[in-house]
Parts: sequence; structure tokens; C-alpha cells
Amino acid sequence: MEKIVSLCKRRGFVFQSSEIYGGLNGCWDYGPLGVELRRNLKDFWWRRMVRERDDIVGLDGSILMNRQVWVASGHESTFSDPMVDCRNCKSRLRADQLPEKNGQKQCPVCGSFDLTEPRAFNLMFKTFVGATEDDSSIAYLRPETAQAIFVQFRNVLEVSRKKLPFGIAQIGKAFRNEINPRNFIFRSREFEMMELEYFCFPHQGLELLEYWLKERLRFFNDIGLSSDKLHVHSIPAEERAHYSQGTYDIEFEFPFGIQELEGIAYRTDFDLSQHQKFSGKPLDYFDEETKSHLIPHVVEPSVGVDRAMLALLCAAYDEETVTDEKGKSETRTVLRLHPRMAPIKCGVFPLLKNNEELVKKAKEVVEMLRGEMSVFYDETGAIGRRYRRQDEAGTPFGITVDFDTIGENGPANRDTVTVRYRDSMEQKRLAIADIPAFLREQIT
Ligand code: ATP
Repeated sequence: MEKIVSLCKRRGFVFQSSEIYGGLNGCWDYGPLGVELRRNLKDFWWRRMVRERDDIVGLDGSILMNRQVWVASGHESTFSDPMVDCRNCKSRLRADQLPEKNGQKQCPVCGSFDLTEPRAFNLMFKTFVGATEDDSSIAYLRPETAQAIFVQFRNVLEVSRKKLPFGIAQIGKAFRNEINPRNFIFRSREFEMMELEYFCFPHQGLELLEYWLKERLRFFNDIGLSSDKLHVHSIPAEERAHYSQGTYDIEFEFPFGIQELEGIAYRTDFDLSQHQKFSGKPLDYFDEETKSHLIPHVVEPSVGVDRAMLALLCAAYDEETVTDEKGKSETRTVLRLHPRMAPIKCGVFPLLKNNEELVKKAKEVVEMLRGEMSVFYDETGAIGRRYRRQDEAGTPFGITVDFDTIGENGPANRDTVTVRYRDSMEQKRLAIADIPAFLREQIT
């Protein structure tokens, strides 16, 4: 993990939030490469979940919502973690994550066993809307995006004229005042979620739970997480929410252990029923076939952008020993990100920076590709160093404009370039005109 954290900072994937003021625990900023990686991840999720299907539509709900939403959903009374205080070092700790010694819970900070009894700590951030700070103006920063989907169910149903089964998808920020944010961006206090609520008839729920599990595993494979690092954990009935008839966690082998990446829950009709009850507004569905009203059931795949990004970085990080032409060996750090996810799709390099013709040609290649994909032009340093810099950034392809390209070694290779593969470091020659199609095929 230390190596990944250090690479993330060095290369501009992730910075500590408000770093120059000492940071803010549980909050992170995403730098130039990080923001591209997240965008690719979110875009691909949206493409898979919304654009490629005709049974799912999108929503972008507000972060602040009427307080009653959280009363109805149960978050105000029960969205809490058990917390204990260490009487010795005064640390606040999550009671269900304490190490044990001889059957006794221990403080992981100072080692003391002198801990208070667990008590519930609500994870929602509270704020006030408007100029008065009293009970009537309390609002919460949403701890998940899903509730906006439930409370807008009727509006979306009416405008989209969808028939069951159909889904509503959303990507957006969520906030949880985690007791112990930890493991870098794995558990933070401000994070982003990608959630789908897939509404269906009651008899379809269990089957759709299986369907979505398969779909989501396929998604993870398609962004470069191999099946051998993914595990499916079926949550036993006694650990599930009382309304859930089935829940799977898709887990990933992080360097700090096998941990939840995504939750897929069959939530029955709990959410819509609660909001119908508390709002007094109908949130039912009229089934034309049976001419009857029902509250749809729902299956919810829910994943954190930050957590998925960390999984991508952990899976991609690699170090290998390579030997150069002079027989000198060195360690190559390489991020083997799937080309689809890579923040920069290709680096473009003139072999020498002080040759006008090479530079001009390389810039033409950049202009040809820009707009369609993120490219990076680099003319400084030895070509080997430039390749290494892009290896660390996860750039899957490097294009070098050399003397062959500009016809100095005869007409045969004029207007061709070398394409270097990040993973194998192999190179091949391609005509410049064929480059866009070659790259497109790899990155879409
Ligand atoms: P936990 O039990 O680990 O606190 P949870 O089971 O309550 O988490 P869910 O409510 O199911 O988590 O959230 C769905 C997804 O949102 C998680 O699988 C994870 O990817 C992401 N997520 C949840 N909490 C955080 C967080 N604090 N930081 C980053 N991502 C999070």
C-alpha cells in the first residue's frame, strides 16, 4: 500500500485534501491523472448501465434533501456504527473493528483494554438550511445517493413511461462521518457512489439479484479486475437488513485484505413503501396486464467510485526488473491499467527535441488524436526515460516519431511511427493514418 500511496501522490492521482493546512482526515483530492481515471470509470459505468440499455434511465439528485427523507428511510434513527472510547488515550474507535487479545477487545492505538461500552454514533453529517440554526432547519449531507431515486420514482416513471422491470441510475457524492476513515481512499468521509435501483415485480426479485451479480462481475472484468482477485460473499439472513431477501458483497483482494467493493441487495418493496407511508403520496405502479396496483420491488447494485479506483490501482501496480541494451538492470514500475481506464491513452514523443521536423510531425500526431482521447506530448529527456514516466502513469501506448517517419532513411517508412506497448515493451511500426483506428479498438 505504501508504494501505491506514494505513486499516487508523486504522479498526481491522489492528494491529501487541504494538505498545506495539515489535511482533513477522510478527505482526498484527485489530481490530473486521478481525475481522468475516475472519469473513465464513471463513464464506462454509465455506458454499461444506461446508454447500452433501453430499460435504465438516469437521475442526478441534490445532495441536500428534505429531512423527512432520512426519517422515512430509517437513516436518522439507525444509520450508525457502534463506537467506543479508549479511556487511556482518548481515541474514538469503531467497536466492531477492534483487535482482540485473549478474548478481550483492545485499543489499536495504545494497546489499553480500558474501553467504554459501545454506543451508537450516527454517521450522517448534520447541517442547517437557511439563516436559523434550530431543529426546523436541520438537513443532512446524503450518506448515499439511492434515496433521491426512490423519492423521484413517480416523476421518473411518468416522464420515461417505462414498464417493469426498469431501473434508475445515479452517480454522485455521498458523505459519511466514518469513525475511523482508513486505508487511503478505501474508507473516506466524502466519496462518490454509482448506484442503480432496478425496479421489478415481486416474483422477479431473486432472479434479478443473480442477474445483477453476474452483470457487475462482468463489469469488473471489463475494466481490468481479473476474476481471481474478486470474491462473492453471500450475506447470511441473520446479518442482512430485515427487509432484504438476499444480499451479495463483491469483494476484492486489496493489499490490506479481502474487503467489500460493491454491495448488491434485493431490498424488496421496503424503500418505496416507507416513502409512500411517510409522504402520504402514492409511489405505486399500475400493471396494465392484471389491472392492479403494486409497490415494485427493487434490486440495488451500489459501488463507490473511490473504492473501485483503489482496486484498479492495486490490481495494476507492478514492479519488474528489466535489463537495458548495455546489460544494466533496473526496476521498472508500471501501472498495468486496462487501456479503457488509463488516464492517458497514448504518449507521443519526437525522438529528439532539437529537430524541427520531428517535433512538427509529433505535434501533428497529437492534434490528430486530441479531442478523441487524452494524449500526452513529451519531448524532454532520453526516450527510455520518457517511456518509463508513462509506464508509471499507466499509459498503454507510446508513439515515437523518428527519422524513418520523416523519410530520412528512404521513402519506405515515411509517415510511419513506432508504437510501443506498455506491458510487453514490444514495438511495431504503423502508418500514422492507421493510428486512430488502432487506438480506438483498444480503448473503447
Ligand atoms: P461498511 O459496512 O464497510 O461501512 P456499507 O456496507 O455500509 O460499508 P454500503 O452502504 O453498502 O456500504 O455502500 C455501498 C458501497 O459504497 C460500498 O460497497 C463501497 O464501495 C462504497 N462506500 C461505502 N462507504 C464508503 C466510504 N466510507 N468510503 C468509500 N467508499 C464507501
